[in-house]
Amino acid sequence: MTEQHYPLHWKKKNFSIKIFCSIPNIATGILLKASDAHFVIDPGDGILRDLNKEIGVKNLLEISDVFVTHGHHDHVGGVWSLLTYLRVMQKKSPLTIHYPDGCVEIESIYNAFKKVYSRSITYKINLKTIKKTNGFTTNNITVKPFPVVHKENLSTGKTRQVPALGYNFVFDGMTICYGGDTAYCEELVVHARNADLAILEAGHDDETPDDMHMTMKEAVAIGKSAKKYFLVHVPE
Ligand SMILES: [Zn+2]
Ligand SMILES: [Zn+2]
Repeated sequence: MTEQHYPLHWKKKNFSIKIFCSIPNIATGILLKASDAHFVIDPGDGILRDLNKEIGVKNLLEISDVFVTHGHHDHVGGVWSLLTYLRVMQKKSPLTIHYPDGCVEIESIYNAFKKVYSRSITYKINLKTIKKTNGFTTNNITVKPFPVVHKENLSTGKTRQVPALGYNFVFDGMTICYGGDTAYCEELVVHARNADLAILEAGHDDETPDDMHMTMKEAVAIGKSAKKYFLVHVPE
């Protein structure tokens, strides 16, 4: 296993990304910056602490978009505290949460938040379900979601595919590919190719491929098709 030293940081011109952490079953937290605009990707536990330290309250209040790859707790565990903090600090501008169709975790957190704080929410929250993987532009970046293969265990001993996406983020002619949690799949292969940066999970802890996470070997093979790559979500 390659040892990860978080945060991982990549920057080219006015486009940058900082991965505060990405540890399977524990937490993920990513900040994307395009010129003056800040975006949050997979706000797991600890995201508020990391954002506050990195960009401060003023910038935190201006965050326009959150991108969620899937609903596992290590990717959404920080959503409640982020939404609540923005309310406490009286955010005024809207916040859009982009997430895959069928991701009940985000909808449940949002519904509970609305219920608890119905009389004191100071900003508009737009839930944007991604049903078709068409590209769109928000704030000043172009976003291209793509489906990935990611399963979870059920109590019956069976597994099920969870609604899961990867995202390509394009700004000023540069592309960052973030695969989220995924097994080796063609969509990821295609989207990572020639990216300026590919962020690839290598969360499978042995070398026999399965349909939940990629092995180190699989992730490296895809990474080599990009200009640069980070391996994340490696079990610690
Ligand atoms: Zn995960
Ligand atoms: Zn997952």
